[in-house]
Amino acid sequence: CGIVGYIGPQRAAEVLLQGLQKLEYRGYDSAGIATLSEGELLCVRAKGKLHNLAEKVQQLEILAHVGIGHTRWATHGKPEEHNAHPHRDSRDRLAVVQNGIIENYRELRQQLQERGHLFRSETDTEVIPHLISEYLPATPQPNGLLEAVQKAVQELEGAFAIAVICADYPDELIVARQQAPLVIGFGQGEFFCASDTPAIIPYTRAVLPLENGELARLTPTGVEVYDFAGQRLRKTPRTLNWNP
Ligand code: GLU
Repeated sequence: CGIVGYIGPQRAAEVLLQGLQKLEYRGYDSAGIATLSEGELLCVRAKGKLHNLAEKVQQLEILAHVGIGHTRWATHGKPEEHNAHPHRDSRDRLAVVQNGIIENYRELRQQLQERGHLFRSETDTEVIPHLISEYLPATPQPNGLLEAVQKAVQELEGAFAIAVICADYPDELIVARQQAPLVIGFGQGEFFCASDTPAIIPYTRAVLPLENGELARLTPTGVEVYDFAGQRLRKTPRTLNWNP
C-alpha cells in the first residue's frame, strides 16, 4: 500500500526504511525492500510490522545506493512473507513493488507460466517482473530496462503504481503510474519516489507528481519522464511549502 524508492549517495536501505515508516498511516500487513550493489539484487521481506523488516535489514549491513521498498495491504494472496513485495523474475535479476491491482493478472500469469516462468507467490503483482524480463535485451542496452518496462506496462490492466530495479542496470530506478499515486523527489545528486510526500519531505521539497500514463527513469544524475508510448515529456518539479 506504500511505495518508496531511492537512488543517490546515501545508504538506500536506511532511506527506504525511514520512508516506509512515514507511509505506515496507509495501513499494511507486510513489508520489504530490494537493493542493488556490486551487480547483485538483494531482497528482504517480512510479515507484520516494519520493525520485523528493520531487524532483518540491520543484520545484513546493506551498503547499496539504489533500492525500492513497499508496505503491502494484501488484495491477492494471503499476507505471508512469500507474497510480500518486492517480487522478482525467475532469474532474480529484477525486482518490482506495486500499489494497486493488476486486473488481468490471471491471463498474464498463465501465458508466462506456459513460457517457463517460475512463480513464487499468489499475488497479482508477480506477473510484472516476469513480463518485464521477457522484454529485456539479452545484453544490457542504454534504454533496455526503460523500454522493457514501457512494453510491459502497456499490457497491464487496472490501477497501479510500480517501481522497478534490475541488477543489469545498477544506475537506474524506473517508476510508472496508472491511476495510483506516485511522487518523485528531486534532491542534490539524489532522487526519491514514494506513494505520498511525507516519505520524501525529510530529504527535499522539490517534487513532481507523476500523471496517469507516465513513466520515469531516475538515475544519479537526473530524472527523465516519458509517456507509456515512449515519448519524452518536459516536466519540472515544484516546491512544496509545508512544515511536516
Ligand atoms: N495487489 C497487490 C498485492 O496484493 C498490491 C497491494 C498493495 O497495494 O499493497 O500484492
